[in-house]
Amino acid sequence: MNMADLKERIAIIGGGPAGLSAAMYLEKKGYTNYVIYEKDNRVGGKCYSPKVKMGPDGKDERSVEMGAIMGAKTYYAVHECEEFGGATHADGPSMSHIYRDSAGKQIYPFDLKKDFTIKKFFGLLKLKKALKKLAHLLETKYVGYDVNGHRGVAEGRYDGLDKTYGNDMKHVEGTNDNLKDLALPFSEFCKLNKVEPVMRIWIAPFTSFGYGFFDEMAAAYVLKYLDLATTLEFVNIRLWTWKEGTQSIYEAVNKKLQHPAILNTQVAKVERGEKVKLTLKDKEGEKVEEFDKLIVTTPLDQFLTYADAGEEEKNLFSKIIHEEYVDFLATFAPGKGPDISAYIFDNMVPDKVGHAMVYYHRWHDLGSDCPCTVYTLRNHKGVSKITYEEAIKIETEDMAKCGFPVASRPIEWETYYCPHVSTQEYANGWYDKLDKLQGVKNTYYGGEVLGFGDMEETVEVSKDLVGRFF
Ligand SMILES: Cc1cc2nc3c(=O)[nH]c(=O)nc-3n(C[C@H](O)[C@H](O)[C@H](O)COP(=O)(O)OP(=O)(O)OC[C@H]3O[C@@H](n4cnc5c(N)ncnc54)[C@H](O)[C@@H]3O)c2cc1C
Repeated sequence: MNMADLKERIAIIGGGPAGLSAAMYLEKKGYTNYVIYEKDNRVGGKCYSPKVKMGPDGKDERSVEMGAIMGAKTYYAVHECEEFGGATHADGPSMSHIYRDSAGKQIYPFDLKKDFTIKKFFGLLKLKKALKKLAHLLETKYVGYDVNGHRGVAEGRYDGLDKTYGNDMKHVEGTNDNLKDLALPFSEFCKLNKVEPVMRIWIAPFTSFGYGFFDEMAAAYVLKYLDLATTLEFVNIRLWTWKEGTQSIYEAVNKKLQHPAILNTQVAKVERGEKVKLTLKDKEGEKVEEFDKLIVTTPLDQFLTYADAGEEEKNLFSKIIHEEYVDFLATFAPGKGPDISAYIFDNMVPDKVGHAMVYYHRWHDLGSDCPCTVYTLRNHKGVSKITYEEAIKIETEDMAKCGFPVASRPIEWETYYCPHVSTQEYANGWYDKLDKLQGVKNTYYGGEVLGFGDMEETVEVSKDLVGRFF
């Protein structure tokens, strides 16, 4: 890299974790001439933590989470964001949960003391054995499985940032033919390795978070996000949360950047010749700006709608599948809400689209006077998609079944969520084809689909992207 490169004018589309961290990593490398465009009136994207009045007298103003909630000690890249911005997870509320069945009744799937049956006893023994076996396989047969990103996996390679180095994630490369198994749906991967019971552990931090179902999501998506170390943190509920919400991490980064994101500005058109020409839309109208390079951190299937996409971009990006995740903040009559979060496992199956899969009770000290966020998916391949209104109605009914009639829904939110490709596209090398496009027409692609739809994978992708190409 020479001084001229460092002066290149770079545009970043999107002020979510991916765009802001891309700017942070560019700055760390000495690049200073970048601009971030964010169409919303805030940064953070799906890290959305509005403040709401709550508590017995309704006067206590605290953050709620409508999007991302938690991290773990394996969130090394997110931790870099924290350090850069001066944010901390040290003061976040602790997490705990119970389990309910679809009728709303509390159940104890992992607790023999509360509900003992021989069948359950043997079931838990099998689960423990399967977990041990999978842990061993991941460390031996599947070496390289947890390297960030999906480059090479379909060809039996790994090529990306290695988390085993902790905060100093290093770039590693190698071959391991067994990694091709990661293109299988997670349920088939488990069957192949005779560890089916482990799906009961992975389902809570995967399906309940809206990331889809194991019979269709490539094992790579499950195991790169929920690698063994991260999964153990989830199982033992040693999780990071942030007092002011996950949005505060990215607000802190944005504040420290030499060029904070330009808000309320949508990139409405992309034309690429010798320079990258962006048409920007804000409340004043439209204007055009020119750049040397472009980093796209927003949904790539949507990029097709406003960019001068070439044939290969069209071919690849049109294969992206995403979920539609619907959540709302529920309030309850005084003293009548839940006092702990709950997972509703029975509702985490395709034919239960629209049903509440989990509700999040954030502030323990408020007991049953705390509003809760309730989550569901409203689409699934092979099942007819339900409307947004139906999803909200069913979720609300499910809360009543659990014994918590909803008094109001002050915030409702639907998000484009968890972009991914089918297991077939994965096995056909979708990610390697995408990698060949990096840099073509001075355009670089980051954001969720390259890693996975969680904060850590997404920020790691930005680190990897800036590390390789800038
Ligand atoms: C309900 C929910 C729960 C979640 N829970 C967790 C969790 O507990 N832990 C975790 O790690 N992750 C969680 N996630 C996922 C995490 O929030 C995302 O993976 C992460 O925010 C993705 O970052 P991103 O920058 O790629 O995309 P986004 O966060 O979606 O940001 C993209 C940004 O680009 C902007 N934009 C889009 N198009 C344009 C345009 N044309 N011009 C300008 N700007 C544009 C958008 O407004 C947005 O701000 C959760 C997400 C949701 C929705």
